[in-house]
Parts: sequence; C-alpha cells; structure tokens
Amino acid sequence: MDLEVHQIAIPNPYFESPTNVFCIHNAHSPPVLIDTGIGTPESLSLLRHELSQHGCSLKDIAAILLTHKHVDHSGLARALQEESGAAVYVHSDDWADVACFEERHEKVSQLYLEAMRRWGVPEEIILAVGNLRARFAQLSRSVPTAQKISDGQILRCGDWEVYVLHTPGHTQGSACFLLGEKLFSGDHLLPTYTANVGATDVTTKGHLEKFLGSLQKILALPNVASLEIYPGHGQPWTDPRPRIKKILKHHRERAERIVQILSDGQTLTAFEIAQKLFGRLKDYHVLLGAGEVYAHLEVLESQGYVRRVESYRFAIA
Ligand SMILES: [Zn+2]
Ligand SMILES: [Zn+2]
Repeated sequence: MDLEVHQIAIPNPYFESPTNVFCIHNAHSPPVLIDTGIGTPESLSLLRHELSQHGCSLKDIAAILLTHKHVDHSGLARALQEESGAAVYVHSDDWADVACFEERHEKVSQLYLEAMRRWGVPEEIILAVGNLRARFAQLSRSVPTAQKISDGQILRCGDWEVYVLHTPGHTQGSACFLLGEKLFSGDHLLPTYTANVGATDVTTKGHLEKFLGSLQKILALPNVASLEIYPGHGQPWTDPRPRIKKILKHHRERAERIVQILSDGQTLTAFEIAQKLFGRLKDYHVLLGAGEVYAHLEVLESQGYVRRVESYRFAIA
C-alpha cells in the first residue's frame, strides 16, 4: 500500500516543544491527519504550506484522528474540518472537551481551581494559572460533529486501516493509533521527556496507575520490538521497549523520593513536596509538578506508604 507518512512540526507559544502532525496518504487514498497542532492562524497557514510541499491540499483531508483533547493537538480540528469536510475522531473519554470545547472550558477551569487547592498550590499561582487558562480558550474551537472512538476499534481510511488503542493516563481519553508497524503515540509515549501525568487531566482520577497500565499495554503488543513510534513531540524511533522501561523506572524512583522526603516526619502538601523535588517552579510548571506529585501520593496512599493527615496534607504511614 506504499503509504507515505510526513511529519509536520507545528510550533506553539505556550508549551515547550512543537507538536507533530502526521499526514498519511498514498496515490489511492486522500490525506489523513494524526493530530492538528494548536488552533492559531499561524499554525493553520504553516500546516497549509507544509502539506502543499508534500503534494497534499488542506481541502482534500479525509479524516483527522486525535490522540487526545489537548489544544496543542486538537486546536485546529474545527478549522480543518470546515475547509475539508474531514471526519474527526477522538476517544469517547476526551470527546466532550473536543466536541463542546467552549462550554467545557469554563467547567474544566473550575475543576483546575479545585484540583490546585487539593495540591496545596498558593493562591497567587492559582490566579496566574487561571489567567493562562483564560488564554487557552482562544486556542481551539468546538467540533460538535466529532465521532467517538473506543479501544479495539478499527478505522478504515481509504485502502488502509488503523487500530485504536486506548491508553488512558496523560488524559483519560488518550489513544494511540496502530497502522501496521507504525504506532502514533500522541503524548502517551515521548522520546526525550516523560509526558505529565496528574496535572494534564483533572476530569477523572487515578491517572498514574492508568498511565503505567497503558505503558504495559504497549509492551504487550505482539510486534512491540519492531514498532516504529511516531510521537506527539520529538522524533520517531524504533522499538519502544527501552524507553518504556526507563519511564517505568523514572516513576518508581519518583515514588521512592516522595516517601523519602516524608520519612523525616513532616506533613506536607503535594506542592511542598514538588518544591523539594524540583526546586522553585514557575508558572505552569507549578501546576505540572504539584499535579504529578499528587498523582503519586494517591497511589502511595492506596498502597499504604503514606497517609492523609488533613485533607491536603500527607505524612508517612
Ligand atoms: Zn497532551
Ligand atoms: Zn502534547
């Protein structure tokens, strides 16, 4: 089926690294996109230009497969759909935040406010994050016709098909797409840094355990050793096993460090522990750091290593 896969990196001013959009097509099949980049006029014109370099036109896009709901991955879906009529697919657990972006944005901002209080984040930082989130409202638009997909589903795109793998953790509706030996992994599996877990979705709970389970799910794929990984950020690579083992180890060590920090008898919030782990965090990183520590505390609490002393403070068990 001689499919061509083109990687298009779309920069964005809000998060560290550019987001990858992958365009898949061949002579018999119109282009299908994996993710879209952030929803700004600049990224739309960049995408238009890059696609034309590969002989593809924006208006010919047949389908858009979203790995998850974050605006740097899904932000352009509505604009692209308006121009091409493309079908947009997203896992059912991330569907509402994509399909009803505007009305959910307000609700999710409220959930972040509550989450940050749980994590012990100081009020002035809560305010700053609130302002930042208000700006995020401009970076996407609702896609009411988005179609819900689920684990194990097969999507036909022209003369080829992709298998949907639900990989909750980074977000509840995070999905990877398997196309032969190519795995489009979104933010679930990244080559150089570990995607945040805990702070990047506050609509459900227990993200760390889900994330670790979702990594095991990839390890259990029959062709895992020969898989080529096409990540949401950074460069593709082959054989995800060493990288997954490293991420699993990273989280084991992080959990040990948290237990060690609490071992001297202090009672601390997730934010205070994050400061001890990462030093002084700024802006959005406070949210990411504290959220991830809290995700660990949830697991450590369920395993009996730590206990909750007050609603937001933890101590060694
Ligand atoms: Zn993400
Ligand atoms: Zn991302």
